[in-house]
Amino acid sequence: MGALLEYGALLALLAAALLVLAAGLQRRGARDGAAARAGDDPAVRARLAAADERVAAADRDAAVLVELAGVGAVRVAPDLTVTAANEAAHRLVARRPGTMVGCGVLEAFTDHHVEAIVRTALEAGSAAGEVVVRTEDGPTLLARARRTASGDAWLVLEDVSELRRLQRIRTEFIDNLSHELRTPLTNVSLLAETLAADAGSLPPRAAERVAKIEVETGHLVQMVNELLDLSRIESGVAAVVVDDLDLGRLALSTVDRVRLFAERHGVTLEVSVPRAVALVRGDGDRIGQALLNLVHNAVKFSPAGSTVAIRLTPTEAEVVVAVEDHGQGIPRSALPRIFERFYKVDRARTRGAGGTGLGLSIARHIVEAHGGRIWAESEEGVGSTFSFAIPVNGPDLASTPGG
Ligand code: ADP
Repeated sequence: MGALLEYGALLALLAAALLVLAAGLQRRGARDGAAARAGDDPAVRARLAAADERVAAADRDAAVLVELAGVGAVRVAPDLTVTAANEAAHRLVARRPGTMVGCGVLEAFTDHHVEAIVRTALEAGSAAGEVVVRTEDGPTLLARARRTASGDAWLVLEDVSELRRLQRIRTEFIDNLSHELRTPLTNVSLLAETLAADAGSLPPRAAERVAKIEVETGHLVQMVNELLDLSRIESGVAAVVVDDLDLGRLALSTVDRVRLFAERHGVTLEVSVPRAVALVRGDGDRIGQALLNLVHNAVKFSPAGSTVAIRLTPTEAEVVVAVEDHGQGIPRSALPRIFERFYKVDRARTRGAGGTGLGLSIARHIVEAHGGRIWAESEEGVGSTFSFAIPVNGPDLASTPGG
């Protein structure tokens, strides 16, 4: 949270600095026009000189602000030549101060990725990406570029190494902890199961308690397994088997896996898959798991007698899978947080449902690892629709180990 606040403050500072810089450039343009009109009039010339000094002071102010923000700021001309770069930019890519100006972006950063980001920004208006500087202990940089009104692009570089390191530590911690917990918990769960099987020989109150222990340990084992899954997907350790995938067939087989659960809840499952659905590149088991989580939730939060519809809609660029229910719905205030790990709308309301609060988080990670997006629409008391879209020409998953 602290890191986020700092990040926000940094961005605000940077935005202010860039605004001042941009204003300086604009003023300089206006001043050039005025100089041409002023001719030899000494009074006008004096006013222009004073204006020049004010512009220079504003530029110096902006430079101080940018340096204070600790971010690298680089201006790139449309022909991809670096025309300005502050000290932080040089420091972040381990170059001597002043050695970037005049170089091409590729030469300045020795990284095709940065060049691609700037090129896209010059063409499309803006672009962003993360790059790791290829020096010993090189930092991880968040690079964001935006085209200016003059046709140049500003490239802003932020060092996010510490943030990524903390995220890695958190993932490793959860992974280790889940590993350690899994074996004893599975044993306790098996013991509870064995005890429950002999419940007939126990006094009724003891049998009741054994049944509760069995259910609760089952939840614990599920939670630990999901935590392990999540940290493996997050850290890229989970094996990704990339194949040409027919999402229609995947939807039908996934729904089959939830059918029994739906029947027990008195919920009808309806699947609608158009005849021709473009193949996508991806891991069938993983995407199946994401869809399973959505359908499972839809059933869990629906009243008996209602219907859950699973629909596939192919567009030119992606295949959209939607799961619609007529269940209890999600309050508007909770919707933005629904994909966070461990988030549950109302713990009291969902206690009996036995969820871990990890299912949607896992689904989000899987979909995003495939270059897709996931979202939810809902109205409390009316129902919810959870959708995800997988691009037809997704990222080259084979070259990103673990996706
Ligand atoms: P859980 O294991 O608790 O289901 P999820 O991450 O899958 O965890 O979901 C998080 C929370 O989102 C749930 O606890 C529930 O409050 C809410 N939720 C998810 N899907 C639905 C749905 N289809 N209808 C209503 N609420 C939902």
